[in-house]
Amino acid sequence: MSARLDFRSRHIGPFGSEREEMLRDIGYESLSALADAAVPAGIRLDDSLNLPEPKSEQEALTWLKSIMGKNQVVKSFIGQGYHGTHVPGVIQRNILENPGWYTAYTPYQAEIAQGRLEALLNFQTMITDLTGLDIANASLLDEGTAAAEAVTLALSSKPKGKAIWVSDRCHPQTIDVLLTRTEPLGLEVIIGDWEKFEPTEGVFAALVQYPDTRGRIDDFEAFFRKNTENGIVNIVAADVLALTVLKAPGEFGADICVGSSQRFGVPMGFGGPHAGFMACKDALKRKMPGRIIGVSVDPYGKPGYRLALQTREQHIRRDKATSNICTAQVLLAVMASMFAVYHGPEGLIHIANEVHSKTAALKAALEKAGIAIEEGPFFDTLVAKVPGKAATYLAAALEAGFNLRSIDADHLGISCDETTTLEEIAALAAAFGASAPEASTGTAWPDSLSRNTPFLTQKAFNSYHSETEMLRYLKRLESRDLALNESMIALGSCTMKLNATSEMMPLSWPEVSSIHPFAPEAQTVGYREMLSLLEDWLAEITGFAAVSLQPNAGSQGEYAGLLAIRSYHKSRGDDHRNICLIPVSAHGTNPASAVMVGMKVVGVKCDENGNIDMQDLAALTEKHRDNLAALMVTYPSTHGVFEETIRSICEIIHEAGGQVYMDGANMNAQVGLTSPGFIGADVCHLNLHKTFCIPHGGGGPGVGPIGVASQLVPFLPGHATLENKANAVCSAPWGSASINTISWMYIAMMGTEGLTEATQSAILGANYIARRLAEFFPILYTGNEGLVAHECIIDVRPLSDQSGVTVEDVAKRLMDYGFHSPTMSWPVGGTLMIEPTESESKAELDRFCDAMISIHGEITAIIRGEADANDNLLKNAPHPTEVICGNEWTHVYTREQAAFPLPYLRQHKFWPYLGRIDNVHGDRNLVCTCDTVEAYAAAAGA
Ligand SMILES: *Cc1c(COP(=O)(O)O)cnc(C)c1O
Repeated sequence: MSARLDFRSRHIGPFGSEREEMLRDIGYESLSALADAAVPAGIRLDDSLNLPEPKSEQEALTWLKSIMGKNQVVKSFIGQGYHGTHVPGVIQRNILENPGWYTAYTPYQAEIAQGRLEALLNFQTMITDLTGLDIANASLLDEGTAAAEAVTLALSSKPKGKAIWVSDRCHPQTIDVLLTRTEPLGLEVIIGDWEKFEPTEGVFAALVQYPDTRGRIDDFEAFFRKNTENGIVNIVAADVLALTVLKAPGEFGADICVGSSQRFGVPMGFGGPHAGFMACKDALKRKMPGRIIGVSVDPYGKPGYRLALQTREQHIRRDKATSNICTAQVLLAVMASMFAVYHGPEGLIHIANEVHSKTAALKAALEKAGIAIEEGPFFDTLVAKVPGKAATYLAAALEAGFNLRSIDADHLGISCDETTTLEEIAALAAAFGASAPEASTGTAWPDSLSRNTPFLTQKAFNSYHSETEMLRYLKRLESRDLALNESMIALGSCTMKLNATSEMMPLSWPEVSSIHPFAPEAQTVGYREMLSLLEDWLAEITGFAAVSLQPNAGSQGEYAGLLAIRSYHKSRGDDHRNICLIPVSAHGTNPASAVMVGMKVVGVKCDENGNIDMQDLAALTEKHRDNLAALMVTYPSTHGVFEETIRSICEIIHEAGGQVYMDGANMNAQVGLTSPGFIGADVCHLNLHKTFCIPHGGGGPGVGPIGVASQLVPFLPGHATLENKANAVCSAPWGSASINTISWMYIAMMGTEGLTEATQSAILGANYIARRLAEFFPILYTGNEGLVAHECIIDVRPLSDQSGVTVEDVAKRLMDYGFHSPTMSWPVGGTLMIEPTESESKAELDRFCDAMISIHGEITAIIRGEADANDNLLKNAPHPTEVICGNEWTHVYTREQAAFPLPYLRQHKFWPYLGRIDNVHGDRNLVCTCDTVEAYAAAAGA
């Protein structure tokens, strides 16, 4: 027996004799012999990676603590879109620190995702109510990208104009992201004073901030009316807390409202992750980016939730898509919505009033001491006019323990938040030489700007205000969802691996969570050191010259990487290079991202084995030689095979003057064995939420860093707070900075050998499953020696043809066995793509295979005529508790066959909450908010 003594051996599932057995089953002596056979010799790294020696969990935590301890947690009054907030303990412990919530996948399998779907519907309801608009999504990546998405949404109505007008009082980081995102689309951004704006020919949208970046609350009603008359789409970036007391944008003519829900109980985390939001008028809903949750019913009439309007996903729209967003910010949207559930409308108003009255009190005290404050109605933000003295007061405030916003030599911004105390504003006032503020009542805005419509009247926001009720609500929703703490989730391409507890723990440290993204450099030394180490390690792992951690999802990495390629061509006078070759098997985000940087997508054929058709590639490269910008290629391919030709593919593209973009979603098959840089790619994004252990959070957050070869380094994303200011793709300089600690811990604990062994073990797991299932379901594609890479595609179509059972039926039936379906019908219709990862033990792999083989038996029974073609275990799956236990049972099979087809289910059974949800009904009757208390009461009484 071998004992598991280090982190690596606990991260990796199959170990010791288990591993030996698996290797024996597939006919290899050792992990390295298997890897030698599976990975083409021509792309194998010569040397092992140069990474620090692996640390134990305790050592790594101590090391990280010593680095992050160099941060200074200073009370922030900086504002500018990021605010202090109290994460309610019950939410911190039961959501943020609870694998039942954070290890779930995107809720595509609705019947086993009702918990987070309800939480997300609450989020949409909250945003819809606060903004006063018709419909909201759940969610976007941050406020800056949300504003950019709003512009593309406005563009979707195909206006004549090409210009967007932006108020100079928007948050500067929002303007920067907007400038990046609009330039490749050939749009002009006009920045100015909204009070002087006259609708002009060519302007199709206008963006304002409410309250604005200097804290002023303006009345946009007349301005918006005039815009509307001139065909201009009105976009507002708004503050969620202010909206609890201010008039809703939908009531003064906004068409789209965007913002961040961070200050609803989500830590600042040096910039993220936080849930951006978007709400819009009904007329725009079918073009709205991101995921929308809708209400539908199951076959037994029970209401349930699901992702609505799935046809909008990039997978279907591809190069017609106007947005590439895939991974969003689900966990953070869940937290923000639960903040509102916990406090309820009165609680939120109370928080807003407290924040406002402290701000007003501070203003009065400062003015009394002769400090002038910029005029105008305000909510929580003041701008002190201190000609020539900003630096002096900034230093005095810091001395007293507070960060203010340094606007320029003459102005300082001061924002209060939920965490601001009376003692703090007294101490801050003293730093300005003012006496202690006196309590202030009333509001500093005209009545006409006050909210007078009720909000959050729904049951969810008015029922769970005691901690006991809240705790049970969270538990109830959690228990409806299948996450990694229940069973393996073998989603091909999505790499659902272990998210180790020790990797997650640092997120709760104040020196990680409580840092403002624009805090002075001297206070963020630890963060910079941690991020720079991670950049170095990822550069080593990918074989690239440099890495940017800014992109906050894989899709954003694609965008940033293609933008770098575009800028590189431009810098060489090759502005005309705009053709992007993309294999037809590529993930939908690829063509969507290419279009967003202004490239023209040309599809490359794949052969029947899923490999890129080399003849087609050569012909297309020749045809577009003069205008070739890039090839986007996924490696190993989306078909789960190491293509032998990858090196020559890169050479063909380079020879024609193009750059190679590698989609690194499948990096889990490469780490330590080969690398994108070594293979010959020029840029590659990683999904840290796939390969590097950041949990999926039920559909986000993610981090999508890009690594680039030396010629592209100058074109990496910058930020106003960094040396390089151009090409910001996110609101914060390091995007979702805080969760990088997870990947940092993973690499620190695994070291070179551990990472390499993880890759080999992932290949072992996939091949073990392929070998066990091949006799029942054909394996669609294999490479060298009949091996797959880290995932395998099983073909359900032959069985479908004979039985009428679809791949969806198989996916739903897996729920009765306690499993989440593998990736369904992608990249090939009628198939399942299985990626077990290195973290799953042989026992769990066997349990999954047993379930699949048992399902094969159920299908065979239909083919043989032993089971009914329509009333069978698969067509009626999943079977929820009420149906199994109901008085009526009309099926020709037994309840036992339905609910307990294999013995392990008697030990533990995960019950699907619903029968199969009706997708068509849901899209026809689109309902995207939750019910009011009255509607619930009426339904209960009926
Ligand atoms: C997951 C994935 C993406 C998109 O990444 P997100 O983080 O969801 O934006 C792109 N390509 C492939 C192949 C993927 O699997």
